[in-house]
Parts: sequence; C-alpha cells; structure tokens
Amino acid sequence: MANIAAIVGRPNVGKSTLFNRLTESRKAIVDAESGVTRDRHYGKSEWNGLEFSVIDTGGYVKGSDDVFEGEIRKQVTLAIDEASVILFVLDVAEGITEDDKVVANILRKSKKKVFVVSNKVDNFVRQGMSGEFYALGLGDPYNISAISGSGTGELLDDVVKAMDADIKEEVIDIPKFAIVGRPNVGKSSFINALLGKERNIVTPIAGTTRDSVNTRYTAFGHDFLLIDTAGIRKKSKVEEDLEFYSVMRSIRAIEDCDVVLLLIDAQLGLEAQDINIFHLAESNRKGVVIVVNKWDLIEKNTNSTKEYEEKIREKLAPFRDVPIVFTSTLTKQRVLKAIETAEKVNENRTKVIKTRHLNDVMLPIVENQPPAAIKGKHVKIKFINQLPTHAPTFAFYCNLPQYVTEAYIRFLENRMRAEFDFTGVPIQIFMRKK
Ligand code: GDP
Ligand code: GDP
Repeated sequence: MANIAAIVGRPNVGKSTLFNRLTESRKAIVDAESGVTRDRHYGKSEWNGLEFSVIDTGGYVKGSDDVFEGEIRKQVTLAIDEASVILFVLDVAEGITEDDKVVANILRKSKKKVFVVSNKVDNFVRQGMSGEFYALGLGDPYNISAISGSGTGELLDDVVKAMDADIKEEVIDIPKFAIVGRPNVGKSSFINALLGKERNIVTPIAGTTRDSVNTRYTAFGHDFLLIDTAGIRKKSKVEEDLEFYSVMRSIRAIEDCDVVLLLIDAQLGLEAQDINIFHLAESNRKGVVIVVNKWDLIEKNTNSTKEYEEKIREKLAPFRDVPIVFTSTLTKQRVLKAIETAEKVNENRTKVIKTRHLNDVMLPIVENQPPAAIKGKHVKIKFINQLPTHAPTFAFYCNLPQYVTEAYIRFLENRMRAEFDFTGVPIQIFMRKK
C-alpha cells in the first residue's frame, strides 16, 4: 500500500522548505506554459529503509500569500483523503493564527495520523515556545527547523513508524493496473467500455485502498485489479484544482499498482503533466503503457500511428521502450488490446532470467565491447545476476565498479532490452565489486 505524507498548513509556515529537505530536491521545474519556474510538489523520501512519497499541498495554492479559508479547507480535506499521514506545519514565531485553527479543526475530525510540526525552532529560546501548540488538541508538537534540518530526524522516526503500522492492509496477489491521466482524457469512458456490458463478471473489492475505486475483473482468462482514478470530485471549477486532484489521485494509484495505463488525449498529445506522471511511474519502477485515446478524432494517413509514436517516444527519452496503444472508447477500438498490453508488461516486470542464460547472453556482449579503460585501468565484468527485487534489477560484478560510466550502463541497458523483452518496464543496473 502506498505510503504518502502530506504537508499541510497555511502559507509561509515553511511547508515547501520542509518538502525540499525531505525530498532533497531543490531542483525546480520550469512550467512550460507560463515560463515561470515553480517548485515541485511531490517527491520521494526515505528514512530507516522505508520509502515514501511526500506531497506539499501548499504548492498547489495559487497566490499563496493570501489564501482564502475555503482554499485551505479544500487542500486539507484532500490531503486527508489521499495521504497516510499528515504533517501539519506551524510557525513557532507566530504562534496559533486563525488559519491554523481552521486547519486544526478539520484535522481533529479525521482519523488520519497527524504530526504537529512546530517549525522555525532555530534556537534554544524558541524551543520553549512550541508548548502553545498543545492547545490544538492534536498531540505533542515536534520541534524542527526546516532550514537547518534540526529535529527532522525525530519527526521522521515517528512518521515511518506510523506508516509501518499502516502497511498491514490486505493485499491481493493479482496484477494491479492503474488508469491515470489528466481530466477528460477518457478514463471513465475507458473503464465503462471495458466493464460496461460485462458488469456481472466484475467484483468490486471493498477496502483494498480507502479512496480510489478498485474493481476486480475476472473473465476470458483475465484476472486483474483496476485502480480507477476517474470519477469522484469532478466538481472542481478551476483548472488548477483539477490538476491538483488528478495528481494527488495519480500518486496514490501509481504506488498501489504494478502497471500504469497512462491515458492521453490524441488531440492534445503528450504534455508536461503527462510527462510528470510518466516520470513518477518510472521512478516508482512501475510498468507503463501509454494509451492514446480518442484516436477516432484524428484524421489519419498510412503513417499516422508511426509518426505519432515517434513524437511521443522523443519526449519519453531516455526511457523510450514503452508500448503505445491507440484507442477509442467511443468505438471500443483496442480497449482490450490496451489491457492485454498491460498484462504483457506485467509479465515483463515479474520476469526472472536464469543466471546461466543471463551470463551466456551478456558476457559475450561485454567482451566484445568492454568499458573504456580509464587512466590505463581496465574494467573486467565477470559475472551477472538478477537481484530478487520487485522490479527488474541486475548486478554486474567487476573489479572496478567505480570506473564504469553512465554511458556504458545505458549501453548495457539497451542491450538487455534488445536481448530480453523488458518493454514498458524500468530496469536498474548496478555495478558491484566482485
Ligand atoms: P510555505 O509557504 O509554507 O511553503 O513556506 P516556505 O517554505 O516558502 O517558507 C516561508 C518562509 O519561511 C521562507 O522565507 C523560509 O525561508 C522561511 N523558513 C522556512 N523554514 C524555516 C526555519 O526553519 N527557520 C526560519 N527561521 N525560517 C524558515
Ligand atoms: P475522464 O475525465 O478522464 O474520466 O474522461 P471521460 O471518460 O469523462 O471523458 C471525457 C470526454 O471525452 C467525454 O465527453 C467523453 O465522451 C469523451 N471521450 C472519451 N473517450 C473518447 C474517445 O475515445 N473518443 C471520443 N471522440 N470521445 C471520447
């Protein structure tokens, strides 16, 4: 199950500073449309061996200096729905404000684990000042300074403990496919086309995840779980709200699934937010199928699909080895093909290559084109095996792992992809000392 920590709180308390510290990414991405640089709002963190996602809900509030109460209310409510734990950030220098009370009131009613984070505790004097936050009725405050990082270790110790306790939810051992994509690409239509006339062969699974709608499909030799991020909360008026909701739902669904079916609108092509979701799937090492929907609306010539595929793959680089399926939910064209492709990707992702076969195939390739010598030193790769991880990972054992370049590792990955089918699956290659 997904482990997600959502950072909430009114503007200027230090949410994005804490986010950056937890995800250690001060990298900002440039918003292609407006040309403005904006911070990332979600990323991965790891503490005591547990990996989890962090979302800065404040990053989605526009004009964040004077946010309306209603706006904060919305962000917090959604965070409660989607996250496993909430980090409620406050500014110790300012104490409890009216906006803080609004947030606290909502959080008190939720059943989610809430951590009261007293931020900007930069010095000894301020430590005593956090006592005020007991009045919020949400438990002991954690004293931190997001800027220096002090106190974040104790906070994270307890955060991952809370997440660990949450993990023991039931897990069904069948492939899980997440249907994700921006609003209006056709997610609901896709699911209806798939399930529509065969409703009777579908069993809804209660309680597998709390919020996204999960449906088990068993018929005609198929057995999989669909994680649906469509529907629910389509009421939002504003474009940015929609983006916020779809990203929040996508993060959760991607973490819960084995293969992501990323739907895009054929008329719009692959856009910045689609690429964000793609990278999210990739960094979570999930399988991916790109589904170009509304294909019926495109005027075609004999090369249409080929050209379209090329354009998409260019934007996916370097992870281009991804299947692309062209669908129309209107005419039901290739909807089942998209699912069958996801099943194939799932096979690729769970594939185990016998050590002997792996070495028989890859060692001659390595011998033929060994890593370039650096400072007169030659790297000798002697042995390869697949590691027993949940997504394909390979260790290449050699004398001087530190001398192997990124470029060479990419060469190995390309050859592995050519020799064994890993289409739609991110693979990892490590160089290890023998
Ligand atoms: P957000 O609006 O809640 O995301 O807040 P930001 O992360 O943008 O921080 C608001 C301001 O508080 C910025 O000027 C930060 O540099 C500052 N700030 C954040 N954390 C700390 C801290 O631990 N100590 C101090 N003194 N300032 C901080
Ligand atoms: P969602 O927001 O991703 O769940 O998208 P919907 O399934 O609600 O579809 C959004 C709109 O696109 C609706 O008006 C659908 O009828 C339309 N639509 C969905 N799939 C197709 C398709 O394959 N072809 C055409 N022409 N329209 C589609």
